[in-house]
Order: sequence, then C-alpha cells, then structure tokens
Amino acid sequence: MNPHYDIVIVGAGISGSVIAERYASLGKKILIIEKRDHIGGNCYDYKDENDIMVSKYGAHLFHTKHPEVWEYVNRFAEWYPWEHKVLAKVDDKLVPIPVNINTVNILMGTNIKTEQEMEEWLQEIRVKIDEPKNGEETVINKIGTYLYEKLFKHYTFKQWKKYPIELDRSVLDRIPVRTNFEDRYFTDTYQALPKRGYTKMFENMLNNPNIHILLNTDYFEVKDMYTDYEKLFFTGPIDNFFENSDGIGEKLEYRSIHFEWESIDQEYFQENSVINYPGSDVDFTRIIEYKHFGNQKSKNTTIVREYSVDTGDPYYPVPNQRNRDLYEKYKIEADKLKDIYFVGRLANYKYFNMDEAFKNALDLFEKIEQENGKLI
Ligand code: UDP
Repeated sequence: MNPHYDIVIVGAGISGSVIAERYASLGKKILIIEKRDHIGGNCYDYKDENDIMVSKYGAHLFHTKHPEVWEYVNRFAEWYPWEHKVLAKVDDKLVPIPVNINTVNILMGTNIKTEQEMEEWLQEIRVKIDEPKNGEETVINKIGTYLYEKLFKHYTFKQWKKYPIELDRSVLDRIPVRTNFEDRYFTDTYQALPKRGYTKMFENMLNNPNIHILLNTDYFEVKDMYTDYEKLFFTGPIDNFFENSDGIGEKLEYRSIHFEWESIDQEYFQENSVINYPGSDVDFTRIIEYKHFGNQKSKNTTIVREYSVDTGDPYYPVPNQRNRDLYEKYKIEADKLKDIYFVGRLANYKYFNMDEAFKNALDLFEKIEQENGKLI
C-alpha cells in the first residue's frame, strides 16, 4: 500500500522549502522528493577546501523590498548586511555595472560631475525609441549604441545564445541606468547574506519531524508510489511534468551554467566578488571570487568562471514570445489538474529573483489556505 502524506513536494529549493515549512506549521505530514543529493536547490552552499563559503550553483545575493519576505527569511537565519557591487572588465578597464557616471567617464573619457550633466549626456547619446520592443531597443534607448555594444550585446549573446534583439526587453530592463554615482547592483531596502550560509537556513526551515525528505530521488521514477496525498506541489520545469502525456510535445528553452572552479595559491585573484566580462574575446560571462562575500579570510582563494550553456540543469527560463506562448499552453494543462500546484521559477517559467521565489510560494500557500477557509 502506498504511504499517505498530506503534502508531497517535488524539489527542495526555495519554493519547495517554503511550502514544506508552511504546511508543517499546520501540522501536516510532508514528503519532499529531491533529485539532487542535497537540499537548498541552486542556493546550496558549503565550505570548500580553502575554508571559503562557496555557492555550488552560482552566487546568490538576497535583496528585497518586501518587509514580509524579509521577516520570513529572518525566522530561519541570521543575516549580515551585504550590498552587492559588480564591475565589468572592458578593454582592460574596470567599470561599475549598472552604468553610472563613473562608467561613462571611464569608458567615454568624459568628465561628468552632476546628475544634470549625466542626463544631458544621455539625451545626446541615446537612440530615442518611444516604445522599446526588445532587449536591444530598451538599452540603446537609454545609453546609445556604443555602450550597448561594449556592455550588453555580447554579454547577452554569451548568456542566452540570443542577441538582445531576440529577447524580451524585461531581461535587459533588470539592469537600470543610473544618472548618479550609485554603484550598488540593487537598491532594495533589505540586502543581506545569511551568516552561516543558505544551506543552514534551509536546514532550519525543514527541521521538523513532520517533514520527510527523500534525496537522490527522481520524482518521475517513484511517482506511482506516492499517489496518496491531499496536495502535490511541483517545483521542477513545467514541461518535464507533462513530458509523457499527450499534447504539447514541444520543449521550453532553458539556459544552464557550466562552472570552471579554480583554487589559486594567492590571497586574492580580483578586486571584487563579481567581475563581468562583456566582450566577445572570452567565452565566460563572469568570474566570481567567493571570499569577498562577507570578507572571508583565507590563505588561498577560490574563483569560478561561469559559462552559459544549452544543456545541463535548467537555471534560466528564456523570456521571449515563443517560450511565453508555449508556457501558456502548458499552464492551461496545469490548471486542469486538481490538487496539483506548480510553484517556483521553473514551474512558472519566470525569471524570479530569490525574494520573488519566496514571495510567490508564500502567496500561493496563503491563497490556497484562504480558499480552504482555514486562514482569515
Ligand atoms: N547583462 C549584460 N551585461 C552585464 C550584465 C547583465 O548584458 O554586464 C544583461 C544580460 O542579458 C543578463 C541580463 O542583463 O542576462 C540580466 O542581468 P542579471 O545580472 O540580472 O543576470 P543574473 O544575475 O540573473 O544572471
């Protein structure tokens, strides 16, 4: 006989862990089925051989403007303030990203000093487009073609295997243009990193006798064993869920990342945690040096070069019209299913930031439970 769980969750990343934690707080019996050998999804971090806390699947910078999300994550971890900054290496010059006054002065040889001067300069240089329709138009409308080519065109191609013109403007609109000297990557009210790492935070979220976790287990291989549930939450790629059912057939596109790790026998490799390489002269998109996060001390250093690739674990949905239309078809199928919910970046095919993933899962939980009349 199949074991009964009130809630079955596929995936132990942000979305799966929030749903598990919330239902456990109601006393529900929960099973999480996770393909990998660890919890935490792509936020998973650990101390490496240099005693540096590194993130196996790329740097995760938490930032949010939502007080309720900030309050929620503080229940499970202590956080220290961390305002992320990014530099880009352009023709051997290091410039701040997003574009600010210093970026322009360094790359263009200008001597802009005030916000007004920057606004005037941008007015002259920009290619005016009333309603930008894609990633290229939205960038050149703000900063003109020269900076677009230097900072965005090739980086985007390396990242997405598509030029900005082939992508929704929303992808490129993630990066603002600043008319002042602001050099933080994000401007949200709350910006922080967990003192003991993300993995520890997930352990705290899931540390409940009512939550049972099956690691190293592919849901699709065991699903016939776990059919006795009230609700199923699926956090994997939505098209995988429908892979073997009749109907749509076409696959959604995802980008994956290949990480080239290197331990280097010197104290530091670069002057910032993240340096982007927006040129077509190298294949990687950026180099991360983890010890900068939280100013970690160690004799040696660990760096990782990120290469964006087609195959491998899905990291990024690819926002364009074709994929959006296809996702809508999957969503129609998903909405027909009773007691099965699709939650998170991969299941909703949305380019969520971490805080949006928390919020999306918390909102879904509240919505379902309100409809059940259990919460007022
Ligand atoms: N981008 C770019 N050059 C940069 C940084 C970003 O062209 O130096 C573009 C690129 O298309 C990227 C998008 O802006 O995918 C969003 O950047 P973000 O830093 O938000 O990407 P993530 O950190 O999620 O990989």
